[in-house]
Amino acid sequence: MTKIAIIGAGPGGLALAVALRQYGITPIIFERARDLSQSGSAITVFPNGLRALDACAAGLAAQVMAAGQPVHSVTLRNNLGQTFFESPVTMQARYGYPMVNIRWATLRAVLAAQLPLGSIRFGMTCEQLRQTEHGVMLHFANGETVMADFVVAADGIGSQLRQQFYPASKPRYSGRFSWRGIVHMPRGEFRAHRSVITTSDTGKTFMTADMGDGFVYWSAGMLLPNPTTAPEATPAEFAQQHLLAAFADWGEPVLGLIGATPADEIIARAICDCAPLPTWRNGRMMLMGDAAHPMTPALGQGANTAFEDACELADALAADGDQDDSLAAYEARRIPRTSIIQVRSSAQGARAYETNHEQHLRESADKMWRNQHEFEDWLYQFQPSNALKQAAQSFIEAV
Ligand SMILES: Cc1cc2nc3c(=O)[nH]c(=O)nc-3n(C[C@H](O)[C@H](O)[C@H](O)COP(=O)(O)OP(=O)(O)OC[C@H]3O[C@@H](n4cnc5c(N)ncnc54)[C@H](O)[C@@H]3O)c2cc1C
Repeated sequence: MTKIAIIGAGPGGLALAVALRQYGITPIIFERARDLSQSGSAITVFPNGLRALDACAAGLAAQVMAAGQPVHSVTLRNNLGQTFFESPVTMQARYGYPMVNIRWATLRAVLAAQLPLGSIRFGMTCEQLRQTEHGVMLHFANGETVMADFVVAADGIGSQLRQQFYPASKPRYSGRFSWRGIVHMPRGEFRAHRSVITTSDTGKTFMTADMGDGFVYWSAGMLLPNPTTAPEATPAEFAQQHLLAAFADWGEPVLGLIGATPADEIIARAICDCAPLPTWRNGRMMLMGDAAHPMTPALGQGANTAFEDACELADALAADGDQDDSLAAYEARRIPRTSIIQVRSSAQGARAYETNHEQHLRESADKMWRNQHEFEDWLYQFQPSNALKQAAQSFIEAV
């Protein structure tokens, strides 16, 4: 019997498997894809995510930082070329970890490299979970069944396992679509270690970030209230042409970046989330990451909070004593925090696409940034509980 089974080898499932190993537990991950090569463009890892990764395995954050590109400054502009906000990123000084952009595939490779060979079983789409008196029976699309003591559903925003237990928790569409890509564009205007977010009064946004070695990560967003077809389902060349047409009046560097990105490498995503759930546990099954608390990417916290879940859940699963108590304590710590981040992401995401977004930013900059700083302190100062326990233990040993 598999003791702990994890469904999904996304950032959340991989980080949990890494974290469990420091307690001597080797779980098996079941992943529907054939391998980890699937492209996802890039994501941003923040201090709370990096601190959580270090709690999953000492030194892991440094590996992610070395494989990614730290961000040293952020610029906000409008699409007429006017800059209205420019600021150095001071996260390293304030929170002890930087803000880092990293390729999706690289991030997963760094995490997977911590695991022994054979930890991930590919081509295994979990279709159903049935709880028995002695364990959980997992049913896979290829006809295989696997019995486990405990199952962690890390199968993402569309989680079948979440919807099996909470049928009303289907992803809800925010009215916005996003397209992302990485392209080689060694031109001087993409300053090293800088991210630039360009907004407009037409409900469109465009972000660029230096990825090092002349590569630029870009992300385009647009209001699309009633999409007739999902852009993920449309041919890649059509999606690229659609995007070029939508941003036609934005000029360079936007059109050059979109046009130079191989069409089949442009990732299109409907921006969705779910309302916070009251519980993530159902008997011997626990949800984590996007399966538990899907959020819009406005704060870039989806994977970061999945890393927080990973170190905390590993700690709870490995705890001595009554497992029901430790899992209840885990939910009590995690659900309020991620609910706040889900709600704030939803509100901030909607505001970023408002047609008066720039005016709103200018008029309320003072008040907003003050609130924003308090929120960021709370967000990025996340302290993993095993780090707190170790600190308490060292203190006890010292006195
Ligand atoms: C436009 C956009 C930008 C984003 N930017 C950021 C960012 O900057 N920073 C950040 O932290 N987050 C960002 N996110 C969010 C981030 O991508 C997710 O929150 C994160 O990937 C969640 O990780 P996860 O492991 O929970 O789920 P996922 O990454 O979705 O992984 C789930 C895994 O489960 C597998 N799977 C699914 N169903 C099954 C099944 N039935 N059986 C077996 N395997 C299955 C999938 O193949 C996948 O490998 C962004 C998201 C979007 C859409």
